[in-house]
Amino acid sequence: SIPLGFFGGIGGASKRGILVKGSNYLEALNNVETVVFDKTGTLTKGVFEVVNINSQIDFTNEELIEYAAFAESHSSHPIALSILKVYNKDVDITKIEDYEEIAGHGILAKVGGKEILAGNSKLMNKENIKYQEVETLGTIVHVAVDKKYAGNIVISDAVKEDSADAIKGLKALGVRNTVMLTGDSKAVGEKIATQLGIDKVYTELLPADKVEKIEDLDAKKSHKGKIVFVGDGINDAPVLARADIGMAMGGLGSDAAIEAADIVIMTDEPSKIVTAIKVAKRTRKIVM
Ligand code: ADP
Ligand code: MG
Repeated sequence: SIPLGFFGGIGGASKRGILVKGSNYLEALNNVETVVFDKTGTLTKGVFEVVNINSQIDFTNEELIEYAAFAESHSSHPIALSILKVYNKDVDITKIEDYEEIAGHGILAKVGGKEILAGNSKLMNKENIKYQEVETLGTIVHVAVDKKYAGNIVISDAVKEDSADAIKGLKALGVRNTVMLTGDSKAVGEKIATQLGIDKVYTELLPADKVEKIEDLDAKKSHKGKIVFVGDGINDAPVLARADIGMAMGGLGSDAAIEAADIVIMTDEPSKIVTAIKVAKRTRKIVM
C-alpha cells in the first residue's frame, strides 16, 4: 500500500503547479544526482527574435525571409514561429507541394515548383550546399533555393528569468551535476551554459544523441542516484521516457512531451524542479 503522506506530497506539488504522475517519482526525487536540461523552450523562452539577415547576391533580404517563411509554414518549432512572425504576411499554403521536417536539421520543402531548404549547417552539408560561415552567438538558419545558397537569418532567444535560480537552487540542495543538451551550435550552447553556471554542455545533438547522453549518464550514476531530464519539445519524448524522472513544460510543451513525462510543470519555470525536490524531501519526513 502507498503511505498516506505521499498523497499529501502530490497534492502539495500540484498546489505549486507541479503535476506528479505517481508517488514513486516523488520518492525518486529524494535521490537526484544529475539534472539534465534541454535548452530551447526549457532554459530559454523559446521565442526567437531576428537579429540579422544576410542575403547573398541575387536575393534580397525580403525574398530570403519569404522563402524561409514558406518553408517553415507547417512547422511548430519555435524557430519556424519566429520566422513567420517576422514575415508577418499570410502564407498561401496551396503553394506548398511538399514538406519534410528533419529533426535537428530543419526543413525541406517544395514551394511553387522551387525546392527550399531552411535549417542549420548540418542540413546544408547533408544537401551539399556551400554556405557562408557566420561568427555569431545567435542561432543561424541557412536558406537555399533550388540547391543555390540564398543566405542566412540569425535569430536569438533569451534565457528565462528563473533559469539561473534553478541551477543555483539545485546546487544548494546538493545536486552534484547539472547538464544542458541542445541541437543548437557550440557557440550558442556554451554561451548559455556559462551564463547559467551549468556544469556540462553538449551541443549539435540530434534527438537520438540526446537519448545516448542520458544512457551514458545512467551507466555512470551511483547505485541510488537518479537522473532527471527537463524538456519541452516534440523530439524530447524519447529522452523524457528514458530518464529516471522526465519533467515536461506543460504550457510550451508538446503533447508528446507531456504524455511521455513523469512530472509536468504547469508554469514552464525550470526552477520548479527545485520546488519539486523540496516537496519530496518534506513528504519523506512526514512519511517516515
Ligand atoms: P534544441 O535542442 O535546442 O531544443 P532542436 O533539436 O529542436 O533544438 O533543433 C536543433 C537545431 O536544428 C536548431 O538549433 C536548428 O539549427 C535546427 N532546426 C530544427 N528545427 C528547425 C526548423 N524548423 N527550422 C530551422 N532550423 C531548425
Ligand atoms: Mg527542444
